Amino acid sequence: MRSIFHPSTAQEAVRLRHEIDDSVYFAGGTEIMRLGSSISSPALIDISGLPISGIREDDGYVVIGAMTTLEEICTSGIVPGFIKDAAAAAASLQLRNAATIGGNFALRRDDSFMIPALLAAEADVMLMCSEGLKRKSAAEYFGKKECRALLLSFIIEEGRNGRYRRVARSSHSHAAVTAAVSNGTYSYAISGSGIAFGDQHDVWKEIEIKDDLTGSADYKRYLSSVLLEG
Ligand SMILES: Cc1cc2nc3c(=O)[nH]c(=O)nc-3n(C[C@H](O)[C@H](O)[C@H](O)COP(=O)(O)OP(=O)(O)OC[C@H]3O[C@@H](n4cnc5c(N)ncnc54)[C@H](O)[C@@H]3O)c2cc1C
Repeated sequence: MRSIFHPSTAQEAVRLRHEIDDSVYFAGGTEIMRLGSSISSPALIDISGLPISGIREDDGYVVIGAMTTLEEICTSGIVPGFIKDAAAAAASLQLRNAATIGGNFALRRDDSFMIPALLAAEADVMLMCSEGLKRKSAAEYFGKKECRALLLSFIIEEGRNGRYRRVARSSHSHAAVTAAVSNGTYSYAISGSGIAFGDQHDVWKEIEIKDDLTGSADYKRYLSSVLLEG
């Protein structure tokens, strides 16, 4: 049996997250509700009523609300192309229509659609913490194993160029390797193994690469070495 809470402000959502043991934010719900989900928390804090969705321009930056769906990102006229490519990696329209950028980033999956692109873009995140609003780099947020702050938005330089590559057995399969580069920042997510980012094209070597369902360690090493070539 699960309980669901409907906070009316971001501050209230964060307070609930701190007060209720084993609670999670409920965004698109595509991970929380899927069969075999990694999340079994009994308390869901529904953030769909908060004004944290939509995409806007702000003084040379593109600001993407955390509740913005991957489909809204794909069809935006102002989001940089490689960030749109990352959102389009979620192959079905049904998934893109529900899954949010905030939920995808917060999950820290090593076959993540968005994480490599957002790290390569050197995006910042706006957070609501128990102490109030904070702006951090996405890398800093990502570096913390667990964070009870609520992601409010992602801030990306307008017109930022980059490339995004994802290799999977089929468009609907989990990715073996996902990689992105932008302005000399490289980022790799390797299934079953981990995520690395930095200013070296071979930063993927920091990851202890393992065999899994998506392919052997050797296969993933090869993909990592060639995906961002050229
Ligand atoms: C068929 C299928 C295939 C999938 N394949 C992939 C895949 O290949 N790669 C992949 O990365 N994901 C995959 N997913 C998982 C999921 O759909 C996506 O990661 C999605 O983007 C999660 O977003 P959501 O809004 O649905 O998150 P939810 O399920 O609502 O929440 C997921 C987690 O994110 C946290 N969260 C949500 N919003 C915020 C916020 N604003 N601030 C802080 N924390 C927050 C929640 O607390 C929860 O822990 C798949 C799911 C399905 C059903």
